[in-house]
Amino acid sequence: MSRPARRVPVTATAPIYRVALVTGANRGLGFEVARQLGERGMTVLLGARDMDKGLHAARKLAGSPGEVIAVQLDVTQQDQVDTLARSIELTYGRLDVLVNNAGGYYDPRANPVNADIAPARGAMDTHLFGTWRLCSAMLPLMRRHGYGRIVNVSSGCGATATSGASCPAYRVSKAALNSYTRALATELDGSGIQVNAVCPGWVATDMGGPGGRPVAAGAAGIVWAACVTEHVTGGFYRDGQRIAW
Ligand code: NAP
Repeated sequence: MSRPARRVPVTATAPIYRVALVTGANRGLGFEVARQLGERGMTVLLGARDMDKGLHAARKLAGSPGEVIAVQLDVTQQDQVDTLARSIELTYGRLDVLVNNAGGYYDPRANPVNADIAPARGAMDTHLFGTWRLCSAMLPLMRRHGYGRIVNVSSGCGATATSGASCPAYRVSKAALNSYTRALATELDGSGIQVNAVCPGWVATDMGGPGGRPVAAGAAGIVWAACVTEHVTGGFYRDGQRIAW
């Protein structure tokens, strides 16, 4: 993260400089969210646990109206989270948008009887604790300006309103993420920092596989929550519509 920020207004009518961080953004939904936020003129920090992949992805977005910059970030590594928070503070002095997108551990062939603990731990460390680490580290940068949009990329699979036995590691970790989202939103209500969970729907990424909808469509609902101007917090959304927890 060596280059200085190019300060581009978000819109012509509201010239507000915004800095966004998207985790797991070297491919899939995270990459597309980074692209769409860059199209809106934001400075976008494209998180990647493999920096070579991050740099390759950021190069593809070089013509963006905003600026897209690769940053090293494995969300399970507290030292990387802390280093990045310090670097953002020194370089920009602010963070306006945090999209907790990094994910994996989709285990459709497992069930709660045969599931191993190891992938469940990995899912929790990435989806729940990864998000938790990022929020704790970045909130001071949001509080400083009394503005923030935190989007936790979840899944309908994590809705406790639905039942299902497949994908136990994935399902339980996304349900925990939803619970964390509600608690954090409650704590931050009135602070200017809005926190929501978003399900992108079934999307044709490496994780989603063929048959899902286009990545741009899934990412649009995440970008909506990242840019929402109304008071919208503590909810679970798909395509900008509230869904049941
Ligand atoms: P994807 O194409 O498999 O991409 C996952 C991204 O997360 C990759 O960039 C991966 O990095 C990164 N990642 C994984 N673990 C990480 C870690 N510990 N630290 C940093 N980055 C990490 O998946 P996707 O479909 O875009 O999924 C993105 C999010 O949407 C996930 O949270 C997923 O649960 C959610 N979601 C997806 C669907 C769907 O149908 N696709 C549906 C509901 C929810 P590497 O390249 O290094 O592996």
